[in-house]
Amino acid sequence: MTLPALQSLCAYARETAQLASIDALLQWDERTYMPSLAGDYRAEQISLLARLVHQRRTNPQVKEWLDTLAETLPPGDFNDDTHTTVRWIGRDYSKQTKLPASLVEELSRASVKGQQVWVEARKLRSFEHFQPALEHLVHLKQQEAAALGYEDDPYDALLDEYEPYGKTQEIAATLEGLRKELVLLVQQIVDSPRKAPIAALHGSVLPTRQEQFGRIMAQAIGFDFDRGRLDVTAHPFCTTLGPHDCRITTRYNESFFPSAFYGILHEAGHGLYEQGLRPTQFGLPPGSAVSLGIHESQSRLWENQVGRSFAFWKFAYPHARQHFAPQLTADIETVYFAINHVQPSLIRVEADEVTYNLHIIIRFELERELLSGNLPVRDLPEAWATKYQHYLGVVPSHASEGVLQDIHWSAGLFGYFPTYSLGNLYGAQFFEQAQTDLANLDEQFSVGNFTTLRTWLNDKVYQFGQCYMPGELVQNATGRPLSHAPLLRYLRNKLSPLYGL
Ligand code: ZN
Repeated sequence: MTLPALQSLCAYARETAQLASIDALLQWDERTYMPSLAGDYRAEQISLLARLVHQRRTNPQVKEWLDTLAETLPPGDFNDDTHTTVRWIGRDYSKQTKLPASLVEELSRASVKGQQVWVEARKLRSFEHFQPALEHLVHLKQQEAAALGYEDDPYDALLDEYEPYGKTQEIAATLEGLRKELVLLVQQIVDSPRKAPIAALHGSVLPTRQEQFGRIMAQAIGFDFDRGRLDVTAHPFCTTLGPHDCRITTRYNESFFPSAFYGILHEAGHGLYEQGLRPTQFGLPPGSAVSLGIHESQSRLWENQVGRSFAFWKFAYPHARQHFAPQLTADIETVYFAINHVQPSLIRVEADEVTYNLHIIIRFELERELLSGNLPVRDLPEAWATKYQHYLGVVPSHASEGVLQDIHWSAGLFGYFPTYSLGNLYGAQFFEQAQTDLANLDEQFSVGNFTTLRTWLNDKVYQFGQCYMPGELVQNATGRPLSHAPLLRYLRNKLSPLYGL
């Protein structure tokens, strides 16, 4: 389509994306190679770019182009590239301009301050030290939800930032179904006399060897190193700097190779989604990831459904032996059981793939109550302990292994947590359908062939960018709405033989 307003809008959006990608490059550098004393100037650079990007996204000229298009754009396919572009830029403009500048500034200040106080409070193991900062943040997030507006639930307004058009009540119902089944499954595993032989995975392995192994596996699943890099960081992430530039990162634990290895597979899964987006649409909605939940579904699917399967280990085991000998002496069955161990614990980021979702559900339930005002911030540690006891059978002995363990709330990230579990649910449902649609996936995995699965995901998910909503992607790919059943089936099918359930 050659409407002048459309061409101007797209050119403008692509230029804004260029600025945003420069910001991303500076942030990637900050977290990988930047010298420690360069931080202050880098913060100024990043804040300048953020200001420029925000000015462009709220420029009244964008509204004029959108208004013209509302009258001149012929009706067509709702999900085609043109309509998707106009729809999402319109959505972004309206969201960006709803928030008063004073609130945006106060939120930004409060989250910087919140993170500083959170770091101190963690050292002191003192929730009381963090409480006033958190109270202020909750108050501001309530104002933000009110300014953004919502139909049913104030939480919707905040969730929308990470899972566009997500409905809190639907997600709550799905997670509630999942929670009941998981609590039961965890109890059965705890009661089982069989214990996973995790000692088999411990042993000193040089980071260089771990890196070689990780690169081979990331390349095998399809991460394109001509269009991406792997580097070292403190808190691993994946970021995209251009249509052919996806950066993944990891950290190495010298005495436990699975940390870095599954970290790499996880980030490479994010990377496959980014590398599967259409480069010609870079910087426009059809070339952008649709939601954090769908993003996480790809990291989880490659990390867990693929990377923790016996078929995958048939392929990976000889490579692991080659790189990790003589530390890795256990046979493949032992390694397989060890990498699928399940054990209730206090720390979310160290949790296994079964209990992980219970950690998320606890945070989701608590942050909803904080935002609705039903739970006063001062009562948070007690509510936290009660839920941990109830769902996982463990109770933190101090705040740093409880309510102070995550950075999210201190940084003002409310509505973010459920996207982790949505990722696990989407991922399991996609994978179950891929197994039905594609013959012999296990045989292919066992010889290191992951192309068929990647192509399927590309056809069903990656190529669409934001043309379809998360729920539509799931419905179109699997013929069913999102449900907790596929994740449960996957976990039970795998863990029942291992734990003799
Ligand atoms: Zn992730």
